[in-house]
Amino acid sequence: MRRLRHPLLLALCLAFTGSAAFAWDGFGHQVIARIAWENLRPETRARAIALLRAAPADADLASLLPDDGRPLAERERTLFERAATWPDIVRDEAFAERNATYHHGSWHYVNHFWEQDANGRPLDVDRLRPQDVNVVERLHALEVSVADPGREAAQRGVDLAWILHLGGDIHQPLHTSARVTATEPEGDRGGNLFKLATEKDDLHWYWDCLLSKAYPRRGQESEAEQIERVVGKLQRRHPRTSFVGQLEPGRYEAWVQTGLALSKTEVYRGVERGKAPGRRYEKKAIRIAVPRIALAGYRLAEILERSLGAAR
Ligand SMILES: [Zn+2]
Repeated sequence: MRRLRHPLLLALCLAFTGSAAFAWDGFGHQVIARIAWENLRPETRARAIALLRAAPADADLASLLPDDGRPLAERERTLFERAATWPDIVRDEAFAERNATYHHGSWHYVNHFWEQDANGRPLDVDRLRPQDVNVVERLHALEVSVADPGREAAQRGVDLAWILHLGGDIHQPLHTSARVTATEPEGDRGGNLFKLATEKDDLHWYWDCLLSKAYPRRGQESEAEQIERVVGKLQRRHPRTSFVGQLEPGRYEAWVQTGLALSKTEVYRGVERGKAPGRRYEKKAIRIAVPRIALAGYRLAEILERSLGAAR
């Protein structure tokens, strides 16, 4: 089979299980980006699109703009959504040069190490420290660089795609956590080492796919229709006004602490190694993950208004 330069299907939960840390599947990232889009001012959207379209050709980012006959405005919105999946697209080692230039594994998460005492209470593990290059310091740096009109638009386009992606990743609780156990003394890599029913199925990927589990694709529905439907539903059930006081613009470390607390108290409770999680666990996990996906979209809009909005 010919390798695709844009293997979007790779990141769809039903088509793929894997140990690579994706953080929200392609569907989840596109829904988050679309919620952000709906909450951006038209001039901010236009600035974002101009940067994405200026990205270097070897990044295969600007070419995510579809060529399917729809009006340009709709196709640009699709580019914006797809750009949020681009940092996972460049993981593909079949495109070695692109991978070497653009893939940065440690940007997607931050490892905060913790363990449980005999009573199950979480304790921080101080001998292990988060990596220096991580999702928090990257978001701070990218926010500054994307806003800098003195930098080349091509580079700012790449920076913007990273913001669109990492603004989603940081809300996946397991992207903030590394649980230390007797069998995983260096941490469990955000649940990647916590295997479920099969070796290919792990707790991390299970959490990445929760939005797809909550709102599976219907019969003949296209992915674009599914995104439209789910974004509408999320914005009604979890409107921006329901997060008053929680947007905490630019407070990335605070965002991480909320996810880490969820990892410590909820994510590992009610699920066992070697078994598929039960219905009860799934309901709980969806109840936690879905509002965080909506919140990620609103926060992403805030980041972009700060960095690309009116004054720029
Ligand atoms: Zn990621």
